[in-house]
Amino acid sequence: MSPDPERRPQLLLIFGGPGAGKGTQASLLSQSLGVPHISSGELLREHQRHDTDNVMSSGELLPDDLVTRVVLARLEQPDAAQGAILDGFPRTVAQARALDSWLEQRGGAVRAAFYLDVPPEELVARIVSRREVSHRGDDNAAVAERRVDIFNREMPPILEHYATRGQLYRIDGAQPVDQIHAQIIQALAVRPDR
Ligand code: AMP
Repeated sequence: MSPDPERRPQLLLIFGGPGAGKGTQASLLSQSLGVPHISSGELLREHQRHDTDNVMSSGELLPDDLVTRVVLARLEQPDAAQGAILDGFPRTVAQARALDSWLEQRGGAVRAAFYLDVPPEELVARIVSRREVSHRGDDNAAVAERRVDIFNREMPPILEHYATRGQLYRIDGAQPVDQIHAQIIQALAVRPDR
């Protein structure tokens, strides 16, 4: 089956530890570029069931097949036909491979991946302070440290996956929000569409 020429999704991936500002940057990019912001964490919170709820509150990752199914189903929606900003996915190499083959079948591509680099101590401090507004059960000091540890364990192979393809940009995530956004826009401006 040859891909539908109207539907060659160009994706931007936003990586970073919990509290690195992925959601903020993805939402700004969504406004600037007019494509949806898709957060795997948000999708999973909407689909929440008792079993997933427990895993999410502990800070552990959910199974690849469940997460991949939920995210790819969202990417199939008409508003994402031209592309989307993905926040929180992929988080494992298995998820990255599933995304690669989904894109290949549709003639789409990862346009660029941005890693918001923030030191671990700063991540924990940010998560704990956002708890007052997020009201998320996993935004507390003990779970925050666990989520940062899990992130540090899972992320290097994912970053490597995109770095070897020349798609990864590292951004200093400790900078002000608007400066980070400007750097991402600038990187995209000099990067040709594929
Ligand atoms: P987030 O909102 O991105 O911090 O995600 C909150 C929680 O949702 C994580 O701690 C995981 O339990 C689960 N989650 C979100 N995205 C993924 C993913 N790509 N793979 C596995 N679990 C995920």
